[in-house]
Amino acid sequence: MNFIEHPENDPQYTGLNVNKGIVQPPVINPYLAKRKKRRDYTPAEYTEEIRKGNITVLSQAVTLLESQKTEHQTIAQEVIEKCLPFSGNSVRIGITGVPGAGKSTSIDAFGVHLINKRNRKLAVLAIDPSSERSKGSILGDKTRMEELSREPKAFIRPSPSAGSLGGVARKTRETIILCEAAGFDTIFVETVGVGQSETAVHSMVDFFLLIQLAGTGDELQGIKRGIMEMADGIIVNKADGNNIEKANLAAAQYRNALHLFPLPPSGRTPEVLTYSGYYQLEITEIWDMIDEYIDFTKKNGYFEQRRNSQSKYWMYESINEQLKNHFYQSPEIEKALAFKEKQVLDSEISSFKAAKQMMDIYFTSQRLHPF
Ligand code: GDP
Repeated sequence: MNFIEHPENDPQYTGLNVNKGIVQPPVINPYLAKRKKRRDYTPAEYTEEIRKGNITVLSQAVTLLESQKTEHQTIAQEVIEKCLPFSGNSVRIGITGVPGAGKSTSIDAFGVHLINKRNRKLAVLAIDPSSERSKGSILGDKTRMEELSREPKAFIRPSPSAGSLGGVARKTRETIILCEAAGFDTIFVETVGVGQSETAVHSMVDFFLLIQLAGTGDELQGIKRGIMEMADGIIVNKADGNNIEKANLAAAQYRNALHLFPLPPSGRTPEVLTYSGYYQLEITEIWDMIDEYIDFTKKNGYFEQRRNSQSKYWMYESINEQLKNHFYQSPEIEKALAFKEKQVLDSEISSFKAAKQMMDIYFTSQRLHPF
């Protein structure tokens, strides 16, 4: 037999010996094929598994809600609706800071602290509209949070892939609902401290935490005024080694700057603390501060008021987004848009008149085939 399989083993070739090989394993993992596929679940089954804290099914449901396919969206929306009564029971925390501020390092340290010292279950989500999954998401990448990704009580989910900020934010907000139904009592929503995504994150969290660095000049130039105004707490990272003094100085400057702002609607002036995410110093103080804030706002009613106004905000956001999509996706508009644009550029009609004519085209088309 050997001779047929391996002619080199013929005794005439002295010194040559080819060993029998091993059977190649199948390309597809047979265990995967046996696993229940996503589409096999009904919305009720999804909800049941999510409620049991089944992380695999939770991930699958999030994938569904991130999908562009209408049939996936339909199931996802049903699951969200079924999970809604079991949601809301968590503290939602937005975390922002410029790239390099130490968000991943800090989230890793915060997460381990919360799970081990405060017995919490933590979901880490992200909003990063610039990311595309194929190119690797900047945020939410598990490898950035080494300790946390090994924790069974943590669920880390990267930002939904690129799309409009509104779309990405909506998906993250819906993911919060699913995570809460799965029993996560602390939700982080991370974002890069540049651009518009902070506003979106701010509109879905109970506490907005700003990570700052000493010595970047921001504290003097007040560049991030808008973001500072949104912050419920500011923490100056990398207060370790010979950077401690600079961090303390920066914290004092932030405190002074905050005193110039009016008292926020929460009734609490944001605190400014220093810490080290890398060396895990003064992490306890940060979580004491956040827990106190949550207690305070729950007592004075601001917590509930903020959540209510966020629900309202997202209803209107959702209406706006759907109307806009419906307008731009209607075939009549798609057909007429380029021509109208040209007419405006050629100064044949005013922008206002062009818009009015487009609206007329849209409404006429709607009368022919309504929504
Ligand atoms: P991100 O871009 O905001 O997520 O920042 P990273 O967490 O990736 O941190 C950026 C760099 O700062 C990394 O090289 C970290 O090791 C470093 N770093 C983060 N936290 C600390 C800290 O507390 N102290 C010091 N000295 N370095 C830190």
